[in-house]
Formats: sequence, C-alpha cells, structure tokens
Amino acid sequence: MSIFNPELKEFRESNFEANKFSQDTEKRLLKALEDKKERYADIAQCPNKSCGVPVKVEMQGDHVRVSCPTCGWETVLRRDVKTHEMKLNEEPFNQIENGEKKYELRLNDEKRKQLRLGDHIVFSKLPELNEKLEAEVISLEKYQSFHEMYKALQADFSEYSEDEFVKEMYKYYSPEDEQRFGVLAISIKLVG
Ligand SMILES: [Zn+2]
Repeated sequence: MSIFNPELKEFRESNFEANKFSQDTEKRLLKALEDKKERYADIAQCPNKSCGVPVKVEMQGDHVRVSCPTCGWETVLRRDVKTHEMKLNEEPFNQIENGEKKYELRLNDEKRKQLRLGDHIVFSKLPELNEKLEAEVISLEKYQSFHEMYKALQADFSEYSEDEFVKEMYKYYSPEDEQRFGVLAISIKLVG
C-alpha cells in the first residue's frame, strides 16, 4: 500500500487522532514534572479509544514516561522537544510506515548523541526525500557492538540469527565505525 492510498490515509488519520494524548493532560503532566513531583496523582486514561484504562505515569528526571499496561501505548513527554532529521532507504521507510519496524539502528555518532527521549525524528525517504514520516523517540539503548545489541534485543530481531543480524548491519556500517562510536537502538513511535 502506498501513502497515497486514500483508504490507508484515512485509517492513519483516524488512528492518530484516537491515539493522541489530550493537550490538557499533557500540560498537567509537564507541570507536575516542573514542580519536581515524583508521582502524578490524578488518573490519566489511555488515549487509545478501544482501551481507555488508567495509564502508568513515571516521572524520570527531565521527562515523563506514560505507558498503558493493557494495549502497550506509550509516550515520553518533555518540555524542550527537538526535531531531528534522518534519511532512510525505501524498505525501512515503508516498514516504519506500516508499523512493522519498531527500532531504528544507527551508529552512536555525534549526530545521534544529540537525541533525547521524547524528541521527534523526521525520516525522509531516499532518494527523492519527498516522502516524510515523523516519529517520537521512546527509548534509546546504547551498545558497544551489534553483537551486544542483538543479544539484548534478540526477541525483537528473532527473524535473524546473530550472525545474520550483524552481517546485515555491516552492509550499512563498517566494523571500524562500530568500534569507534558504538551503536544505538532508537525505539520509535509514529506521531500524527
Ligand atoms: Zn491502552
């Protein structure tokens, strides 16, 4: 399916709407964070319309993590959200768009070291860079090597053996750069 398929576009738009956390709740959560509260007293509900159960709210230093124990919906809120730009090949771009790809794997280079939880990433599809997707950074996991990354996240990459996974990564990144920078698994969630 392409992004230009009107049915898909409609589905995605209504889906995004259903999954949006209300701005009012967001404001109250950020205020609680600013006041250095360790707990958020009021009950916030999962914005997923078919779910709606109370969510878990964790104040974690400079951000708030909100997660739904039932449907797995999750968001990270912070005051100074930055937007970063990254380029992607067609296949991974489409996988993110379809919700098949949960992690973006990169070297932990200077550009990636700027990423913080709750920031947004705009992915542009190579080579034309006309199609774009915006995602939120849900978690950042750093590893010394792709081998170490595979061992930690094996459940999410079970379609590959460890050797296949590392070989796949070496199509894009050299072992020298891997050693120099270390590697980063960026867990992402599409945002509307
Ligand atoms: Zn839920």
